[in-house]
Amino acid sequence: MLGQSYVPETCEACHAMAELREVEEADGLPPYRVCAACAARLTEHVLRPLEWFRLAALHGWSRYHLHDDFYDELGRSIDPVDDAELHPFPALADCAASLPLAVDVAYALWHLPRALVPLFAAQPAATLELLEQTTAQRPHPDIRASADEIAAVALGPVAEEWIRRECAGDNDALLFPLAQAAAACLPRDEALAYVRQALAAPGTNVAERIGCLAWFHDEAALDLIEQHACAPISETWGRTAAASGITWDRARRWMEAGRPLSTVALDALHACVRYDSPLLAELAPRLLDPPDVATLRAVLTEQMDRDPVPRVKKLAARLIEDAEALVVGVPDFPLGERRSDEWPQAETPRDETE
Ligand SMILES: [Zn+2]
Repeated sequence: MLGQSYVPETCEACHAMAELREVEEADGLPPYRVCAACAARLTEHVLRPLEWFRLAALHGWSRYHLHDDFYDELGRSIDPVDDAELHPFPALADCAASLPLAVDVAYALWHLPRALVPLFAAQPAATLELLEQTTAQRPHPDIRASADEIAAVALGPVAEEWIRRECAGDNDALLFPLAQAAAACLPRDEALAYVRQALAAPGTNVAERIGCLAWFHDEAALDLIEQHACAPISETWGRTAAASGITWDRARRWMEAGRPLSTVALDALHACVRYDSPLLAELAPRLLDPPDVATLRAVLTEQMDRDPVPRVKKLAARLIEDAEALVVGVPDFPLGERRSDEWPQAETPRDETE
């Protein structure tokens, strides 16, 4: 404006020096600080992939203006975008050359690509410093969950002090990713005590949170399931029991105990042979100390007689069919392949135009 001076700043999306404006959303999180052109593209959902990436890494990919109604995982708008190919999403090779960029890419993607994990694991102290710095400045739960996952899969005990502070903080909404980080970074008893306390907190919906025990692969988790199980039983209970390493002895005891534990037992057996969720495919649980096929089929038949309701009959019949796979430990992947280790398919590079 004539007669009035302003200090140009860097646009969060295009990195140009410009007069910035704040674009707010209704979620109460910090506004985007962008130039006029990027503000228009942001609110019309036609950002270029690189601009989308920079905003997603700072603000979280699931915020309204960035989320998957409008863009794919690599920031490609479903509407036509000018010059999109000139501003591509970063490639894996770019991440290998810059740890801060690798962290930003991990934050912007919907799932942590396994290809990034060795980069973080090779520079644990620098990665930890970046995670602490960035999460202190970027409050979106997607970003903080992503940082917790990096700590769990790439850092382990290196991140112990940081994860201990995170667990002690007011981070109730992050229980699932923090439980994963606690299981990997803290001493086992301390991590279990953290989850035990979160489950026992007044007003807690245990059924919604029981899944966070899946990261421990520990008998103590099975004891907690036994203690907390209550109707109505969702499949999460059985999946968590499977991931915790349920033995045949315990599954049989739960069947004999009746509902709700008998339902958890059948779901757990099912989860040991059909990996029908991404987490099951990743954790790849097996039935421990299985009986022979004939015993397994006989006990399941008994269970159908003992509790002849449709859910039990249907599940037990399917398990009788799957008995050999269950005993030998050869699971089925109804979702198709296990979660991909591949880098998401990238936009065509711009080399040809240069
Ligand atoms: Zn801009």
